[in-house]
Amino acid sequence: MKAEVVEPGSVLGVLGGGQLGAMFTLAARRLGYQVAVWDPDPEAPAHRFATHNFSVPFHDQPSLVRFADLVSAVTYEWENIPAELCRALEQQKPVRPSSAVLNVIQDRLEQKGFLASNGFPVPLFVTLTDPDQLAATVRQVGYPAFCKTATAGYDGKGQWRIAQESDVQEVERALLESVRPGMRWIVESYVPFERELSILVVRGSDGQSCTYPLVENEHEEGILRTTMVPALASPIVTERAATLARQVVDRLEGVGVFCLELFQLPSGELLINEIAPRPHNSGHYTLDACSVSQFEQQVRTTSGMPLGEVRLLSPAVMVNLIGNDVAAITHGSGCRALLDIPGAMLHLYGKREIRSRRKMGHVTFLGETLGLALDRAKPFRDGLANGSLPSA
Ligand code: AMP
Repeated sequence: MKAEVVEPGSVLGVLGGGQLGAMFTLAARRLGYQVAVWDPDPEAPAHRFATHNFSVPFHDQPSLVRFADLVSAVTYEWENIPAELCRALEQQKPVRPSSAVLNVIQDRLEQKGFLASNGFPVPLFVTLTDPDQLAATVRQVGYPAFCKTATAGYDGKGQWRIAQESDVQEVERALLESVRPGMRWIVESYVPFERELSILVVRGSDGQSCTYPLVENEHEEGILRTTMVPALASPIVTERAATLARQVVDRLEGVGVFCLELFQLPSGELLINEIAPRPHNSGHYTLDACSVSQFEQQVRTTSGMPLGEVRLLSPAVMVNLIGNDVAAITHGSGCRALLDIPGAMLHLYGKREIRSRRKMGHVTFLGETLGLALDRAKPFRDGLANGSLPSA
């Protein structure tokens, strides 16, 4: 589809209305766009900021017709939206990133196959199509290993760590319990990484691209807990990550915002864990610490506007509020104590129901130096972990 420019005042469509969709919607509205949010859940955070709400299932045909009529261009907040919907919309309006990109990324096996066949570095992996073959498959990559569902997994869901042979039976049982016809898994070797890094790439329809600074991430139980920017990586590693990220998105011919999650080995070598075809949780710091946020870049690339500046204005540490963490902020004196910390920027997603492992908000701690940002973030993060934040 021709890369036409969508002017402010027009309607941009976003599929998925979680916190990422909400932050996209706010950025779009600031730039004068109207936004149609399609998320079946009427309570999804983005609906509150939308100009047009579609709270119907993604397969609702009359809504597809209305949505396609209304919007001038479409994007999505995560990769697990139905690919058929993207393809159908693409017949009528630009969808960025395209459904071809989504097809590669939606399936971990397709994605890793694409990366490996293009010579990009990834952990050793093998396809599993039958849970009975798990032991034999793990032997091909060696112990310890990870087994992940090929589709629909996120935040550590649908993935199992297999430390030794005696773990195989239990994981096999879990796979058999959830198996559906045609289901596939990826079995990959465990990477003994020194650090987890990620990097955002923004690419326009003219092929121009830019990268944000490399960031360092810490996960807990497969969920992102903390992001630190800039990463404490050597200039060589930092440069290599940026080059890799641009090359991957060029090869994908992706238009939009992408995030590469990377493992850094003790040797400095980088392996790609996965690609997200959208703004990423590890890029939330850009809202408070960069001249143009990842969400504004998503607006710009969706509407065909020029890419924005990616300048880091301040070192930052982002801490996610997961599940019940949020109660430490919303009850008692927690919020006042937090907002009393200089450089602490609070983002609450407005999700009514607290569920374990659910991302409820985040806090970005800014500081003149990374050390200062860490000094501000660390007591907060430790307080969340041990329940010692001020209350009542
Ligand atoms: P993913 O959903 O694939 O991004 O995995 C979530 C987290 O699990 C990653 O950020 C890592 O902390 C961990 N992880 C996933 N795959 C591997 C692997 N092959 N080796 C080591 N850690 C991994």
